[in-house]
Amino acid sequence: MKKQILAALLGASLCVSATAATLNVGTEATFAPFEFMDEEKREITGFDIDMIKAIAKAAGHEVKIQNMGFDGLIPSLQTNVIDAVAAAMTITPQRQRAVKFTEPYYQSGLVVLINKKDEGTIKEVANLEGKRICAQIGTTGAMMANRIKNANVTLFNSVTEAFMDLKSGGCQAVLNDKPVVEFYLARRNDDTVKILPQVLEAEYYGFAVSKRNQKLAAELNKGLETIKANGEYDKIYQKWFGNTK
Ligand code: GLN
Repeated sequence: MKKQILAALLGASLCVSATAATLNVGTEATFAPFEFMDEEKREITGFDIDMIKAIAKAAGHEVKIQNMGFDGLIPSLQTNVIDAVAAAMTITPQRQRAVKFTEPYYQSGLVVLINKKDEGTIKEVANLEGKRICAQIGTTGAMMANRIKNANVTLFNSVTEAFMDLKSGGCQAVLNDKPVVEFYLARRNDDTVKILPQVLEAEYYGFAVSKRNQKLAAELNKGLETIKANGEYDKIYQKWFGNTK
């Protein structure tokens, strides 16, 4: 009898620890408002962080955030250093060959940021031919920059460095995600730079997991559905973007 109770208790505790596993989530925390360092609290915060925490919670998991370079995220998934990526990562066919994405959770797009003094000569993407362009390493902005004819492309580890290079007259344009460029401008109230009106390509962000971990992808998709249905997604969206979708 006693043995049976012990076995049952053991089984129950094993079961609890199996469902409440801690997910190691990789991010690249220089990408406000999606993931960035809250300097006061000394912790990583942002839309993606709130989202992955809420989704993981709905799926019975806790989350531990690990910061790393953007170009290190997919290799870290593939070598099991992390379980998931929450890094405003665009779902692209090329990445889909390497990792498994969840359903999209945010619609984005690329924009061009220039110095206002160049607005007479750089009016649209076509004018970027032969220009000095900056982007963040390993990103869709970098891929797009590399497709522009005769462009002189400089890649930085973070988009913040690319913005700084633009302002100091290094590059003539930064190619980056629209919501991140808009957030950067709104925060700094900087009227020496401007966004070109044209949005290049619609992009969708997804959370990524290893292809070997289809179970986790399914759990995260279910969690995403749950927080969309119970209003939590809207709350998080409102907190970071000021309006609901
Ligand atoms: N969405 C872009 C990409 O996936 C940029 C992401 C990022 O820099 N965090 O390439």
